[in-house]
Amino acid sequence: MTPDTILMVDWSGGNDTGPTPRKDAIWIAICRGGAPTETLYQRNRQIAEETLATLLDEETKAGRTVLAGFDFGFAFATGFTKALTGADDPLTLWDWFEERMQDTPQSNNRFDLAGEINARFPGIGPFWFNGLSRDIESLPRKGTHRENHGLPEKRKAETLATSSFPSWQMGGAGAVGSQIFTGLPVLNRLRHRLEGKVAVWPFEPLDRPVAFVEIWPSLLSKAITPQVKSGDIKDEVQVRILAETIARLPSDRLTDILNVEPTEEGWIFGVGHEDELNALAAQTSPLKPPPLRDDCFAMPRGAHWTPVDDALAHLRRTMTPVTATATLPLQEAAGRYTATPIHARRAHPPAANSAVDGYGFSASVLRPDDNHLPLAKGRAAAGAPFDGTLPEGQALRILTGAVLPDGVDTVVLEEDTTTDGHAIAFRGPLKPRANTRPAGEDVEQNAQIFEAGHRLAPQDLALLSATGHGTATVHDRLRVGVLSTGDELRASGSDLAPGQIHDANRPMLLALLDQWGFDAVDLGCLPDDRIAIRDALDTGAATTDAILTSGGASAGDEDHISALLEQTGAMELWRIAVKPGRPLALALWDGTPVFGLPGNPVAAFVTTLIFARPALVRLAGGAWPEPQGIDLPAAFSKRKKEGRREYLRARIRDGRAEVYPSEGSGRIRGLTWADGLVELPDEARDFAPGDPVRFLPFGSFGL
Ligand code: AMP
Ligand code: MG
Repeated sequence: MTPDTILMVDWSGGNDTGPTPRKDAIWIAICRGGAPTETLYQRNRQIAEETLATLLDEETKAGRTVLAGFDFGFAFATGFTKALTGADDPLTLWDWFEERMQDTPQSNNRFDLAGEINARFPGIGPFWFNGLSRDIESLPRKGTHRENHGLPEKRKAETLATSSFPSWQMGGAGAVGSQIFTGLPVLNRLRHRLEGKVAVWPFEPLDRPVAFVEIWPSLLSKAITPQVKSGDIKDEVQVRILAETIARLPSDRLTDILNVEPTEEGWIFGVGHEDELNALAAQTSPLKPPPLRDDCFAMPRGAHWTPVDDALAHLRRTMTPVTATATLPLQEAAGRYTATPIHARRAHPPAANSAVDGYGFSASVLRPDDNHLPLAKGRAAAGAPFDGTLPEGQALRILTGAVLPDGVDTVVLEEDTTTDGHAIAFRGPLKPRANTRPAGEDVEQNAQIFEAGHRLAPQDLALLSATGHGTATVHDRLRVGVLSTGDELRASGSDLAPGQIHDANRPMLLALLDQWGFDAVDLGCLPDDRIAIRDALDTGAATTDAILTSGGASAGDEDHISALLEQTGAMELWRIAVKPGRPLALALWDGTPVFGLPGNPVAAFVTTLIFARPALVRLAGGAWPEPQGIDLPAAFSKRKKEGRREYLRARIRDGRAEVYPSEGSGRIRGLTWADGLVELPDEARDFAPGDPVRFLPFGSFGL
């Protein structure tokens, strides 16, 4: 089996750990389709349950299979379930716990419940450890105080996972009892919420979209410990590496490891396979995206020219990310594509605060007309919160951005008050919570802030930072080579012999790539010479992720690009019904996609914007870009032929779309005159001034 999505959860039986990501909280790692892993911090179990429910819902709705691992026992040692519930099925035990556990972010009844269970067994035990100051009958504080409870100390898997803790211990470093008590009810609710879509391993056959699997991260500590760098949160690193280790497992190996006896005790994933799993977990190289398929440019060939939309739909389907990924500091991640969805690590703002400089108080004391409140000592300022609770009936000096102290939920603007330094007076009415910003009003903790494939703009860094991210997992920059071909071409600025012209495409294409955030690589300007072009393509394929060539792409005598690509056996000449444009030659050269653009600078520019750009964005890990246009009245008339789409160089003047007087595709000047393109639809149409036409500003192509 190969799950599409791997979810690894580091559970916690403790209380809410606050908004700042930290250890001993709950961490969830999500690894989808071999892409890099996103880790989510969950400050308490209630939030984690909601997050897991949403994630599992999304994955199953999208038709993806999920392996979800949780680091607590799914059952207890032999005999426990039967003695407690009268049934053999450990899932009955899950119901039993769900019915009796009361759990809130700040407290729960796990110790009392452990005592209650103990009371049902003979002797003293099996559970022990009491984290409360009050004594609980039947729950000994020490393990050594237990006797004659009649149950084995460890499950079989626990005896093999040598440093694991027996499930009977309810607290203390490393203990898991509390995690089981608080975890099983959550898993039980999740499995019922997902109505028949969850199989619990190893009790149930794995024939459902979601598998719940018991994990124990310490099984991989040999490989994981050296990878935890100072400043890392170990729990976070562990779940990430666990997820990626399982993602690296060949399908038959995973099936084999999951193939265990379905005893009532359950099992720990990977026990007995420690060496194999540690070897995989030690691999630090990022998961590599699969290469493009050999037939990625093969389009069904009809007698007719291919409509633009069909060509684009084909590229959209077959172009997949090819770049590796890395987790980088925000500044370095700017301009790159996110490799995973990203969720807010903390709410923004994290706490309710004042939107103005003024005075804060409780709305309960507000009167509709004249208000007169004594001033409390002290003040609340941004970064210097007021320590304590404001007594009801008083007001407190508060500045913009200051966290609202206890006792304050409403702020009156300084300018609306008068004060003698001891009291303030102001006139109502004032709405409760006026001039305050609630916690999370901008972004709630755990809300998704970016999809995978989003190019991080400067303002996105602000959002990432404000929601608790110091790094982002992004794709490496796509390296794109640019090659010009033609006997007549010479580099910009060089002297020309008769018949020669300057290479206009290369500087243009290199600069376009640069603006789009790719690493542009100059592969030079070459004569129409197959050996020279072959060498350049070899260099390009070895050093770049994609290659743009211009010139020589048709099927004539001097069209050496198409002739050469043809020899690879995988060249496709796309005859697209578009003007300007000539056939596009598309091929994989040694696995590297080559986009053979027309030589004409105007055609090269337009086909790059329309076809090459979205393909490159996908290769770079971005979501397929759709240029957003606006409908404007035409400032021109034109009779358009049937059966091809046309792009005219255009600009907006007085709210109307003007087009360049000449459509000649050698007229570079028209490109610099324009602010965008007018896109005329495939069918025949006569356009008169005032008719609406679709204008695509260059900005909508990321320029
Ligand atoms: P081709 O696609 O090679 O048949 O070239 C079509 C037209 O574009 C010819 O007039 C070429 O001279 C011109 N052309 C090709 N490549 C370039 C270039 N890099 N810069 C300027 N013009 C070019
Ligand atoms: Mg040529």
